[in-house]
Amino acid sequence: MSITTPIIAVHYAEIALKGKNRSMFLRKLKNNMDHALIGLPVEKINHIESRILVTLHPEADVDEAVTRLKRVFGIQWLSAATPIDCDDVGDDLSGLVKLAIDIVKKDIGDAKTFRVTAKRSDKNFHKTSLEIEQHVGGEIHEVIQVPAKMKDPDYTLNILVLKEKVLLFSNKIRCFGGLPVGSSGKLMSLLSGGIDSPVASWMMMKRGCTCEFVHFHTGRSIAESSVEKIEKITMVLAQYSPRPLRVRMVPVYPYEVRAIGNVEDKYDMLLFRRFIFKTASRLAWRRNCHALVSGDSVGQVASQTLPNLKAIAPDIQLPVLRPLIGMDKLDITDLSRKTGLFETSILPYRDCCSIRSPRPELNARPEDLMKFSDKIELEDAVTEAIKTSVVLKIGPKGRITE
Ligand code: ATP
Ligand code: MG
Repeated sequence: MSITTPIIAVHYAEIALKGKNRSMFLRKLKNNMDHALIGLPVEKINHIESRILVTLHPEADVDEAVTRLKRVFGIQWLSAATPIDCDDVGDDLSGLVKLAIDIVKKDIGDAKTFRVTAKRSDKNFHKTSLEIEQHVGGEIHEVIQVPAKMKDPDYTLNILVLKEKVLLFSNKIRCFGGLPVGSSGKLMSLLSGGIDSPVASWMMMKRGCTCEFVHFHTGRSIAESSVEKIEKITMVLAQYSPRPLRVRMVPVYPYEVRAIGNVEDKYDMLLFRRFIFKTASRLAWRRNCHALVSGDSVGQVASQTLPNLKAIAPDIQLPVLRPLIGMDKLDITDLSRKTGLFETSILPYRDCCSIRSPRPELNARPEDLMKFSDKIELEDAVTEAIKTSVVLKIGPKGRITE
């Protein structure tokens, strides 16, 4: 369904369940909507009766506004609101009824039951909400002959009475829901060039987290590693964020020069993963992040058996969030498509995990990895890697240079 009127009704779900903190979540949501709509002619965004109404200039590109709002986490659904002037409603509500019937005929589709839900923001209106619901609902029923059902109807026509106008809206465009980015603290996400970790980051952003990113690349410099793919993935993620995203690009050669000839083949992949987690953890402390995020899923590859997940970095103090841990690859891929990440995630890229020894130990013990860590002075590799890393800031349109 496309929205054609310049008033968009925005509905939130989970935020409505919040108690004392609800106003903070709503403030963030409104701010993030403001950011998402930058450059479009917005007349006002106001919060009325558990909804946020976005009024655009009549010339505005409504489709573009809808596309952008669909990426604002915290929004559960959007609908087009059709306004009618209070002067045209009529004492007997006949003007309102006529418009309501037109909208229902157009939108009801094959719904088997319906209801009208009215709310008055202007309590001086000459009918109560219940009177509006009963009268308009009765007239609609006469015309369309669909039974009314108060609980869980297939179709609902909402009527919202404001001071100067009444808004009607029905068809919903489902959005992602979640919580507004910036309402749940900050994370350091390990971002690879694959399908999984961008989805994992997206899921945590959907829970309201601000994400910073760390990517490990194979070259001496980012030019040598051609990290354009990582930048492109971040650009897609940035569409969901009110601010540009920060990606730290870390070279892996400080690990490699120490590991060559010193680490048994079957431990190389696992020790390498220890290196990336230890580096990410140090960066996370530095940047005041509350946790790490990774795209691991149990058993997906040999380095992700439960014993290996346990052995890799038992000494990390921060929680490691793994939102995909119980998901199948097919489900992750579906989500990757839905979020708009997939096309970029499948571009060719020489990621650093793909060049490691392919047959890691399935049952590594923490003490084995600790032994090799000490032998190659892994902490020094981390320090050197961070020293030679660079930070990029990336918005939806690409790199931002200051
Ligand atoms: P896919 O499995 O789709 O190829 P992936 O991102 O899951 O991609 P894995 O090799 O399964 O890649 O790595 C597991 C996790 O380790 C990733 O989800 C990511 O969090 C982290 N990781 C892997 N490679 C890198 C990298 N080059 N830079 C940063 N993090 C990485
Ligand atoms: Mg993976």
